[in-house]
Amino acid sequence: MAKCSICGRDAVAYIRYQRRYLCREHYIEFVENKVRRSIKRYKLLSKGSKVLVSVSGGKDSAALLMALSRLSKEYQLKLYALHINLGIGEYSEKSLRASTEAAKMLRIPLIILNVKDLIGYTIPELARRLRRPVCSVCGLVKRYLINAVAVELGADAVALGHNADDLAVYSMKSFITQDLEYLDKLGPKTENIQGIAVGRIRPLYEVYEKESFLYAFLLGVPFIHDECPHVNHESLEQILKVKLNEVEEKKPGMKIMMLRNMAKRIRDLPRREYRVQSCRYCGLLSSTEVCSFCRMTARIHGEPLGPIVRSRVRELVKESESRQLSSAAG
Ligand SMILES: [Zn+2]
Ligand SMILES: [Zn+2]
Repeated sequence: MAKCSICGRDAVAYIRYQRRYLCREHYIEFVENKVRRSIKRYKLLSKGSKVLVSVSGGKDSAALLMALSRLSKEYQLKLYALHINLGIGEYSEKSLRASTEAAKMLRIPLIILNVKDLIGYTIPELARRLRRPVCSVCGLVKRYLINAVAVELGADAVALGHNADDLAVYSMKSFITQDLEYLDKLGPKTENIQGIAVGRIRPLYEVYEKESFLYAFLLGVPFIHDECPHVNHESLEQILKVKLNEVEEKKPGMKIMMLRNMAKRIRDLPRREYRVQSCRYCGLLSSTEVCSFCRMTARIHGEPLGPIVRSRVRELVKESESRQLSSAAG
């Protein structure tokens, strides 16, 4: 059996782009050092930050929740987790269970939103009614709800579990489709906009998919192995994923190099004058007079649901905070 290049104990992994073997302890340290380095390099968090961690139930959000929880003392973080139940049959049920168990294990307060309760339809039902692809409806609803919760909480940042492989694919896609505006949003962080949008951070920016899997596995955080049944294996993303893996195989470390250079490029871009405004109905970030969530729900219900959803979210956040207070007191 191969031995750890640092301490000589039995190795659990070989890091190709560093040509070294690592044991369990050194592997965990290796991943956490990557997260720490990204926090520093990209100025993701400052001491005492209140962070909302978006948790899907998969390996990446499990790794993210674990890593931030283990770093929370060092950075004095105040962590909250958010799980959104999308109503995608058994997949969503399992995801909810895994997220609940992970948050419980790490003693992080979990806020749960249920799309069907909030909007009246599950994500697949919404997509059918709107005649739009499931993934695009899902993305829109999740982005809106995550931001709504973060604003209510007064969070300093929303932490997302995107890993280096995901981000390499998204950025290649935006290059191929020349949707370069989108590239801006794929960096390690996006900015806060007072009162209407909480900035997003990606602490796993330089962590590979395989690494986040092994990290979560070694530390025993519960997560599900299933992938969403709506993933389309013929999509451009999936094709790029396979191709980029071939490149990485021949050029180990290529994806990290690409992402680091991209982060620099984004940072050095002249700040474009964004047309930032708040939605006429719900008051949250929008690029037009009415935000896409209010427009979408108005098409289905005849009236925009943003304001109702926001007040429901406010109640749920309050409940979670008072539960926190009573458990801290007890
Ligand atoms: Zn070792
Ligand atoms: Zn709105």
